Amino acid sequence: MGKEIIVGEELADSAAYRRLEASIQEPESEEMRAWKDAGGKVIGCLYNNIPEELIVAAGLTPYRIRAVGSTGAELADSRFSQINCSLVRHLYDSAKRGRFDFIDGLVAANDCDHMRKLYENWKATIDEPYFYFLGFPKKHGEPQAARLATMLGDFKKSLEGSFGVEVTDEKLRAAIDLLNEIRQLQRELRDMCTSDDPPISGAQMLTVAIAGDSMPKKVYRDLLRQLVIDVRCMGDATRPRARLVIYGGEIDSPELLVAIESQGALVVADSLGGFGSRNCACDVSTTGDLLFDLAHWLVVDRPHEPRTFNTAPERYAYVDGICKEYGADGVVQVHVSMCDLWSYDRLNFDRHAGMRNIPCLDLDIEYVLSGEGQLKTRVQAFVETITDKER
Ligand code: SF4
Repeated sequence: MGKEIIVGEELADSAAYRRLEASIQEPESEEMRAWKDAGGKVIGCLYNNIPEELIVAAGLTPYRIRAVGSTGAELADSRFSQINCSLVRHLYDSAKRGRFDFIDGLVAANDCDHMRKLYENWKATIDEPYFYFLGFPKKHGEPQAARLATMLGDFKKSLEGSFGVEVTDEKLRAAIDLLNEIRQLQRELRDMCTSDDPPISGAQMLTVAIAGDSMPKKVYRDLLRQLVIDVRCMGDATRPRARLVIYGGEIDSPELLVAIESQGALVVADSLGGFGSRNCACDVSTTGDLLFDLAHWLVVDRPHEPRTFNTAPERYAYVDGICKEYGADGVVQVHVSMCDLWSYDRLNFDRHAGMRNIPCLDLDIEYVLSGEGQLKTRVQAFVETITDKER
């Protein structure tokens, strides 16, 4: 009998994976430093509603702000209240400590009130060469796509004026094509997890996705191409005890998934935001006016989030579809404390899961993982419940 292979174990042999993994350990990756050393500029993006294609078309590199390595949020105490979520508090603390000093500008959107407050505080207290705030519709119809296209036009002009570049249609098309290829490669990787013996763990998948916003996109695309080849060549892994889908907003560190998967379950798929499947579920079209196509993808085509009104049926249908496609035994719903948007959604989703007999575990987390022992115990109990039912 051959050697038993634990899920994702073989990835350690992939040089592409090792580089992707290394790139998310610090705010500024080696690849980003090389880009800066060559004279490139980096635009910090708050959250997942920033049209990265426009930034790439302007010859800049988008960087998703993450408070990697943060251990406290004391510097946020004077500007945020205890009812602000820990995500924005840690991001602000890290910014005040100069951990994002390599960025050449900051772009935010009106994702939620907490994020807006973060942007306002950042702008008021930290010098950045460039700031931009993008309005983002709360509805998801054709009129909103048209309105957003106009706002994207304003953002384009702002980038052109501030960085002395021209964003032509040709450059925008090339940027959309590049990001679409990245989405396709990520989907290819995710599709491999529909098998009975997925070759890559959920924590590794998240690592790969986060790396995509930690380095220049072309460097990432090339590493991703190689990674897909490497994963295809890997042997069958050990079959997990339980297959889980993770559902929630933004998770920008693999630690939580590592803790979940340490209990014998495998996160085979997700419905997460910027670093999750919702961001690569479909491509941006390039058949019409490119700004409109991009706006349409942002507000209509992508799977929705609770911030978009009246989208619960579509959101839950998306999770149901993933559960079916990936043969999930249950859903882990993750919620950052004090996040009002996802709090309401959580109650509704619990009801939805109950009506469909989908086993669901609710986890309250802080941005920096704490109480790991208790969390693991709850996951272990959940996995046992699911596997007991199946026996
Ligand atoms: S976790 Fe919730 S409250 Fe915090 S920034 Fe995200 S959506 Fe806003």
